[in-house]
Amino acid sequence: MTNLAHAPSTDAFEACACYLCGANAADPLVTGEDDLTGKPGRFSFVRCRQCGLAYQSPRLTLDWVKLYYDDEYIAHRKKTDWGWLTPFYEKSMRKHDLSKLALVDRALKLEPGRRVLDIGCAAGTFLRELIARDKIAATGVDFKDLSHLPTLNGVDFRCGLLSEQSLAPRGFSLITMWHFLEHDYDPNATLARCRDLLADDGRLVIEVPRLDSLSYKLYGARWPGLQAPQHTALYSKATLMAMAEKQGLEVVEYLPWGAFPSYFYLFAGAAFKLLRGRGLNLDRAILPYFLGQILLSPVLLFERRLNLAMQTIICRRAQ
Ligand SMILES: [Zn+2]
Repeated sequence: MTNLAHAPSTDAFEACACYLCGANAADPLVTGEDDLTGKPGRFSFVRCRQCGLAYQSPRLTLDWVKLYYDDEYIAHRKKTDWGWLTPFYEKSMRKHDLSKLALVDRALKLEPGRRVLDIGCAAGTFLRELIARDKIAATGVDFKDLSHLPTLNGVDFRCGLLSEQSLAPRGFSLITMWHFLEHDYDPNATLARCRDLLADDGRLVIEVPRLDSLSYKLYGARWPGLQAPQHTALYSKATLMAMAEKQGLEVVEYLPWGAFPSYFYLFAGAAFKLLRGRGLNLDRAILPYFLGQILLSPVLLFERRLNLAMQTIICRRAQ
């Protein structure tokens, strides 16, 4: 029976080999809880003895992990009413999308009509911004059926896994994965498929949390980048680049930051330490969140140099 009245029992878990090198031998790294929503269970991350990749093992089966993707999962943007703070929330979400556009601009210049694929597209607001600005043709894939959301109007939305989608090989000028790869149960297959889908002059942009960052050192088992049990792997700079290269991708640019605000991790990690697995009440957290952001704004000016929490790679097909 799959429900979350209690912590998942051992038969909810499956053994998992290293995604990067395939080895089974690994040492314990850290044990995490679902600090964001407070659902039950403790989840182990290990570090591969052979290549150093950190990953969750054993991991929940797919049927089980779905239960941890709450309906209020913030990326799905179902909640829109935050009281008097709604304009601040909307402004920061729009800023997040515009930061993604700025990263796209580092990767390539998109001509009108070019095809763009966003894997793990959630509500599709990034694609909407890109359609409005660059007149591109957008495809979005997400395992949750979000097709009813008005933000996905004009997007070729595909519900399901990337591997289930029929898409034109070498058909995409740009493929993006914003905080998707670290959730992926088969990141090798996804990266290999991205390589096949990329046009010859195309670019793939991948953003994930960075394990070898200041925020992990600060928070350890309460690091928001664990996002247990959803995160299957925790990538450092070295292991992220190695994963891409293993699948025939060349890393054109590495950035120790991303579109996602590192401040969120600084704030949430501190809150998770205080709450110790009880879950973050977003309604109550939103005001301290914005106040903290104002207080920390002098530090956040240097976000790109401080290796706080995020990383991004821009890739092309290896020659
Ligand atoms: Zn390994």
